[in-house]
Amino acid sequence: NSLSPRTREMIERRRRLLGPGYQLFYQNPLHLVRGEGVWVHDVEGQRYLDVYNNVPSVGHCHPHVVDALCRQARLLNTHTRYLDDNILDFAEKLLGTMPAELSQVMFTCTGSEANDLAVRIAREHTGGTGVIVTNYAYHGLTASIAELSSSQFSQIAASPDVRTVAAPIHSPENPEEVGRRFAADVRAALADMRSHGIKPAALLLDSFFTSDGAFFEPSGFLREAVEAVREAGGLYIADEVQPGYGRSGRHMWGFQCHGLVPDIVTLGKPMGNGHPMAGITIKPQILQRFANESGYFNTFAGNPVSSAVGLAVLEVIERENLIANAHESGKFMLEGLRRLAVRHPVIGDVRGMGLYLGVDFTTPEGAPDAATAAQVVNGLREEHVLIGAAGPHVNTLKIRPPLVFQREHAEIFLNSLERVLERL
Ligand code: PMP
Repeated sequence: NSLSPRTREMIERRRRLLGPGYQLFYQNPLHLVRGEGVWVHDVEGQRYLDVYNNVPSVGHCHPHVVDALCRQARLLNTHTRYLDDNILDFAEKLLGTMPAELSQVMFTCTGSEANDLAVRIAREHTGGTGVIVTNYAYHGLTASIAELSSSQFSQIAASPDVRTVAAPIHSPENPEEVGRRFAADVRAALADMRSHGIKPAALLLDSFFTSDGAFFEPSGFLREAVEAVREAGGLYIADEVQPGYGRSGRHMWGFQCHGLVPDIVTLGKPMGNGHPMAGITIKPQILQRFANESGYFNTFAGNPVSSAVGLAVLEVIERENLIANAHESGKFMLEGLRRLAVRHPVIGDVRGMGLYLGVDFTTPEGAPDAATAAQVVNGLREEHVLIGAAGPHVNTLKIRPPLVFQREHAEIFLNSLERVLERL
């Protein structure tokens, strides 16, 4: 009832025009009209710190990216069936950030399409159909990927070819066990496929397990599981839609934190800083059969404007040292969050890698506490800080601001969070 007449009218107009499929954040939804760096501004001129949005990762409306977009949009926009320098310059620059084996790239418009393409290629290459994912994975919304996205299984039937394994949950007391247990689960999934006559095609993993709750440690914990899948004839697909593009503060790509080279890497979200673009990088020998038999054309993907944008994003990451910044700001955040955890027992585990951090809220008995997480998310909105909660129990605060987030922004965030926690 505290909604302004204008807000109420817009909500009603959305309902009328867009139907029931769309959801808004917050009971008093935000009406944002402008963004700059880590800040977004609402229609009343109020400023909010964006700690939620990992898409505009070089900062909202970065001038170098916007200029590249406008310049190419004024000249020409077509598709990948003409010769064009933009796509080649972008492809070269992007592949230059990858291990040498991943030497070819294909473009899509969304992360879902990238995963869809990756799984299709993996199935054609291996002749298998089976895919292993974690228990609460999200890989996208196309029909074939939704049925491999276990977080959606309450709404969409699982593919008969999918097997789920528990995510490698952070275990500070027993770090060596994490990889061993994960590999044992993957081997059991492979054995189950075999007993049902299913040949494995791929192990598809978000490198940071973002929808499972965000897990990063200990480094190297995926190696044994990936070896098991490869021995069984399957491929390792790294979903870098969230972990990629420098977010780890250590490397450009999340899989590099595991010391592995995937067979296919899928990309999305930050690739165009908000412009819809995604894609895969791949070992050429794996692409061969699919390319010979199917060929590939995607109307909008890899167009000259998108390519100019994609190149500009990579240039900003390099010029502004955003990977180092993610490391510095992330470390400062992690230390601050750990100090808060000591003072506030509602905080359970705190973990992070660069500018992807997770904070669990738990009851005094140690159970997941989604209600407190929701209160914190709403309390932070009142503090003009935007953030979300995720994980299977929706009790994990997911902290993934644009990579231009500085120490001063981390201080604002930590002080706001402390005030909210004190008010609980
Ligand atoms: N993979 C991961 C890990 C994601 O987080 C998402 C989007 N949340 C996707 C794939 C799908 O990307 P898109 O929404 O661009 O289709």
